Amino acid sequence: MNSADDRRNVRAGHRNGGGTVTGFVHKGHSPHPSLDDSLEGEIRAFLTDEDQLHTYDDLTKVNPVTPTTVLKCLQARYRVKVFYTHAGCTLVALNPFQPIPDLYSLDVMKEYHCASQPQEFKPHIFIVAEEAYRNVQGQLEPVNQSLVVSGESGAGKTWTSRCLMKYYATVAASSSVLKSQDTVERIERRVLDSNPIMEAFGNACTLRNNNSSRFGKYIQLQLDRCQLLVGASVQTYLLEKTRVACQPANERNFHIFYQMMKGATDEQRKEWKMSHDQRFVWLPKAEKTIEEDCFHDTVEAMVHLGINAEKQRQIFKILAGILQLGNVNFSSSTDESQPCNLQEQAAELLCVPAEELQLCLRVRTLKAGKQSVLKPCSQAECSMRRDCLAKVIYAQLFEWLVTFINNSICADKSTWCNFIGVLDVYGFECFQINNLEQLCINYANEKLQQHFVAHYLRAQQEEYVSEGLQWSFVKYQDNQSCLDLIEGSPVSVFSLLNEESRLNRASDAKTFKVRLEKELCDNVNISWDKFSKVPHFTVAHYAGKVNYQIQGMVEKNKDPVPPELISLLQKSENALLHQIFTDREAENMTSKGLSKVTVVSKFKNSLESLMKILHTTTPHYTRCIKPNPDCKPLTFKKEEVIMHFFPLILIMGCKANLLEDQRKRILSQCAFSIQCCWLRYQRRRRQARRQSATLIQAVVRSWLVRRQVQRWNRAAAVIQNTWRKWRALL
Ligand code: ATP
Ligand code: MG
Repeated sequence: MNSADDRRNVRAGHRNGGGTVTGFVHKGHSPHPSLDDSLEGEIRAFLTDEDQLHTYDDLTKVNPVTPTTVLKCLQARYRVKVFYTHAGCTLVALNPFQPIPDLYSLDVMKEYHCASQPQEFKPHIFIVAEEAYRNVQGQLEPVNQSLVVSGESGAGKTWTSRCLMKYYATVAASSSVLKSQDTVERIERRVLDSNPIMEAFGNACTLRNNNSSRFGKYIQLQLDRCQLLVGASVQTYLLEKTRVACQPANERNFHIFYQMMKGATDEQRKEWKMSHDQRFVWLPKAEKTIEEDCFHDTVEAMVHLGINAEKQRQIFKILAGILQLGNVNFSSSTDESQPCNLQEQAAELLCVPAEELQLCLRVRTLKAGKQSVLKPCSQAECSMRRDCLAKVIYAQLFEWLVTFINNSICADKSTWCNFIGVLDVYGFECFQINNLEQLCINYANEKLQQHFVAHYLRAQQEEYVSEGLQWSFVKYQDNQSCLDLIEGSPVSVFSLLNEESRLNRASDAKTFKVRLEKELCDNVNISWDKFSKVPHFTVAHYAGKVNYQIQGMVEKNKDPVPPELISLLQKSENALLHQIFTDREAENMTSKGLSKVTVVSKFKNSLESLMKILHTTTPHYTRCIKPNPDCKPLTFKKEEVIMHFFPLILIMGCKANLLEDQRKRILSQCAFSIQCCWLRYQRRRRQARRQSATLIQAVVRSWLVRRQVQRWNRAAAVIQNTWRKWRALL
């Protein structure tokens, strides 16, 4: 055990730049009565010196690994502007919330790429990138890699993903690229250009992050036999399309709308019916000032990816049409037969007949056998249909863009042989009101957490085995039961939600709640507050409990699109809009195809295929951390960090527990030695006492004897004297 520990310490010492080393500094124990002192020293050696905390490059080397010490270590490092730290096989990235000069420069990339042992360098996202890049080639056969970037909103996932992509676009490009300063071009350029487009259409300013991704993304960077980047493909997950028509208080719509508002030329403004002082209901201004000047960059990226001027015109006209649609209001009187001015403008931009748009929004077509009955909609229903129209257009446009990007950057299968995947998904969410979106997001996080735990513990065990350490498996709370609750069969939240969605009846939150209570009452991961007026259920996730509101959940899961709206869009003279809605995919959107595709089943399927890919790749985990809720530069709030970092510390605790096991073993050895010594001492003392008692007895006895003898002698002498005197007298 000692030699292995020594090896670990040598490594820790190396990484820590020669600072105090943690781990076992066990030197063996001699059974000696003065062990008390050395034992104290031994225990002290386990505890990390606080002044040296910032030198620890690996959190699992801090001792003891407790939330407090780990936090202190991260804080100490953040103070000295060190933002990356290892946590076993995971990399922890603290968000500095300000650009750090030279941290990601071409020179730094080169340094990590050319190093023979990059792991020995200071922790950096480039170590992870380089490790994956070297692993891809594999010793026996190529192994695909996945870089999983996780963390809460604003923690830096997208930033990190961009860094990773930039790294590969640089080091995996032709060698001339590394030499020149103008970094990347050709396919590498196009792969990188997919970012500004997807961020413009899929990101928005929220309360937690000015550039929050409202979708999940897995990008596969395709490498050829020579490990050069030859292409990429993107898979997206669950775009938050409700944002188009409904922005939470103090949050904003997707960036692209603001970019258009700010960056349009006069000519474009005229075409898009978007004057400088135009007010759009769906474009709220958030209090924060954010970067909106990227319209030019977005357009440039579109050009690089091959979206020609005509397609761009069609895209922007659709977007302008959506904005106009948001300004359309409905009065309570249902006899409004003529479209209002705003509706006409929206119809013009979407290139659909104004009267038909009016009809679609105001009148519902009910099918009764072969006959159709027209039913006027209430004011609320009209608004719902308007929002639904905007959402379905935006979501389909986003899908189309992703497909276009894929067609533009994906290499032919024959040209690439393996890939490095970068996963940038939304982190665990717990708001005051949570609904189906949060349930899906947290379900995805549960899945990833399970994958992470399995991978982490496996990696840890492998490390112990390779170092010849004895270890005992630490039982970790598996989250399978929570996953069973959400997605399992035959009965789970998802299965009940799907059943309820397929029953062609008006969804009622209370009925659904009663079903959940009845069917899932045995599951410990779900609970209900019996006294709450709002129907909800609480799920105990790995990262904490979350209350989900039931109201509206079934409807969201159905996500119905009135067929009239789809027919209307199919008639659009905007070639792109027409194309999007005449594709076969669109058929599934109407209520006909609903029995098959609900939101959760679609999400579950896409997540399952993602997990399948992850299972076939070697994963590398990066956990991004947001050190303060206000996105302030270089500000570290312990409460904030611990809240989002705790699940990771728990896992790290497994390693700590393994170390703890050994620490206990040493301590018990010490204790045993002391006990032995003490027993020996006691025995000797007893022996000695016994011996001394015998001796004393002997001494006393002899003394007594002597005294007796003396007495006898004296008596004898007296007798002798007396006898002598008596004889003289005689
Ligand atoms: P969301 O889940 O909301 O999409 P996210 O985890 O993707 O959040 P990012 O958008 O990547 O968060 O990061 C938020 C902001 O933090 C960035 O816009 C950037 O300003 C800053 N940031 C993140 N990482 C870094 C870094 N390494 N250096 C400098 N600034 C950073
Ligand atoms: Mg993001």
